[in-house]
Amino acid sequence: MNEEKLKKLEKKIRDEHLAKIYEQVIILFGLSIIGGIIGYLFCKDNQYPIINGIILGIACPWGYIFVDKLSKTLNSLPAINDLYRLVCLITFGIYAILWFIIKLVLSAYAGMIVGPIIAIYYVVKIRRTWKDDYSEFAKTRYYIEYPDEKTNYSIKNNSNTSKVDNSLFIPKYEDEKYYCEMCFKEITREEYETCECLCEECYMDIHTDEEGNFREDYYKY
Ligand SMILES: [Zn+2]
Repeated sequence: MNEEKLKKLEKKIRDEHLAKIYEQVIILFGLSIIGGIIGYLFCKDNQYPIINGIILGIACPWGYIFVDKLSKTLNSLPAINDLYRLVCLITFGIYAILWFIIKLVLSAYAGMIVGPIIAIYYVVKIRRTWKDDYSEFAKTRYYIEYPDEKTNYSIKNNSNTSKVDNSLFIPKYEDEKYYCEMCFKEITREEYETCECLCEECYMDIHTDEEGNFREDYYKY
């Protein structure tokens, strides 16, 4: 692995993580502005104190994160989920809309308390992302970003075959799952790191010579 490329990749991965966080924050601020405007218009039309409407509108998206999570947690309980479905069925779905409105109102009030907590959470998260060590991530993604290097490496160590199937050397990378690069079986991270990105069987197989001896410096393919 090229040290300079590894550093570059590390930076790239960090930037990706940061971009995801910034995106969430920007969406939240955007929704807050929309919420504030709705709160303002609503209170103006109904002669309510305008400032309260604006504050509740701004707080609503922040509170919604909390209220939605809470309602999802409650809904994971079978009894509550069944009750919710039953009520929705009886009211022809009107309750679902009503519940959404109740959730928004609850969110507006909850947001005034949880909003600042969520804001602090994002600040901490951004700071941590700057400090975090992404070198391990970079190592696992290295040959996906630079597949040619892997191929060159394999050609160097390859004595029997002249043609190298490039697709074999691109690991499948989804949700930090690791796959053997030869048989595509799911493997553990430990196997991935110690067995040259292969499962144990393939690793043993590739390093076993004609006499049936295991040799680390020998490559069958
Ligand atoms: Zn395998």
